[in-house]
Amino acid sequence: MASLDGRTLWIPYMSDASHIAAAIARSAGHDAKVTPLTSSATVALGRSVTSGRECYPAIITSGSMMEILRDNPPERTAFFMGTASGPCRFGQYCQYHGMILKRLGYPGVPIVTSSSSDSYSSVDGFSSFNRQKALYQGISLVDNLYKARFRVRPYERNRGETDRVYGQQLLKACERAEKGLSLGKCAQEAARAFCAIPVDGSVRRPRVAVFGEIYIRNDPYANDNTLDRIEELGGEVVYSPIAEWMEFVNLSFIEKSKKLNRQGSVMTGKIKAGVMAMMKRPVEKPFEKLFADTPHAGAEAILRAALPYMPENIGGEAILCIGAPLALMSHGGIQGAVNVLPFGCLPGTVVTAVSRRIRRDRPDLPWLNLAFDGQEDTDNTSRLEAFMFQVKKYADRNGD
Ligand code: SF4
Repeated sequence: MASLDGRTLWIPYMSDASHIAAAIARSAGHDAKVTPLTSSATVALGRSVTSGRECYPAIITSGSMMEILRDNPPERTAFFMGTASGPCRFGQYCQYHGMILKRLGYPGVPIVTSSSSDSYSSVDGFSSFNRQKALYQGISLVDNLYKARFRVRPYERNRGETDRVYGQQLLKACERAEKGLSLGKCAQEAARAFCAIPVDGSVRRPRVAVFGEIYIRNDPYANDNTLDRIEELGGEVVYSPIAEWMEFVNLSFIEKSKKLNRQGSVMTGKIKAGVMAMMKRPVEKPFEKLFADTPHAGAEAILRAALPYMPENIGGEAILCIGAPLALMSHGGIQGAVNVLPFGCLPGTVVTAVSRRIRRDRPDLPWLNLAFDGQEDTDNTSRLEAFMFQVKKYADRNGD
């Protein structure tokens, strides 16, 4: 287990859930902070230390590390970087970042890493069972804050009010997480605050699910503010929760263990699923009324929906990216699907290829694949505008 004595642990920004993760690490006595939001300067710095052949998220996180080291002493700095197995380069990020740091004269700066296969549990600060539970509950709460924001904001009467409520509730949640307190109370207060926002909801907008590579979809700069732009163009965004990934990883573990007849592992996975459900309930139940007509699909439904298009054991995010929109579609919950991916992303390319078959099977449902590499031009903008036009037509035809 990596020691962080005397160092600030920098957690990469991947949605505001990173702020909860940092608060939980602080509750364990670490000086944990979230890296600043990505900007064009971050990307330029990242490009200056990478070869250009890396995934876009690797370039951004490299640039972010350089920004931190430019402003902070290396002997007081450490970075967190997750890893995962599967058909993807993510598993090599931490080694790659280590090579960059060494090359640039920072060999002593630790990169604290942990894998999705142990639910990121081998990092000092997140490792105890209670902190693992707190981390999952915190991420689930932030997911719900985002969902509430996207459910209410398109209909708010007073511009800016939803974002203000969102910011206040996020701050409160981080304060409670830092004190090691349960977040159930925060969820109750947040749900009340969102429900109290005056709205004009006489006409429901068409719902557009945004899914795809987890880093890009959770970094507004990297996805060129696609979620906000869908809203500006008249849609209601259906947010893909981060906790979904953790639930899906555990479900895949159970299914794999069943196939290998490892009954002990199956039991471990099921107990874990039970604990996750128990932790999620207090931060989910208060939002039930607000989300009553927001489409949702659980990990199991997602997996089942993807199976006609790809094998269960493909690993990584691809199956989730195919299954989630299909599961949401099957209940008529969405009128459009947007897959955001980094240019050259391996699972993203698989999803894009498979989406051709899905569009053959469901020619009516608007589906858009948007690739980002940091050099966006007007092409993605006009494609998004044309897509939203289709979405509105589809919603009109189907009486949504
Ligand atoms: S999911 Fe795609 S972008 Fe992310 S690390 Fe894997 S290959 Fe790279």
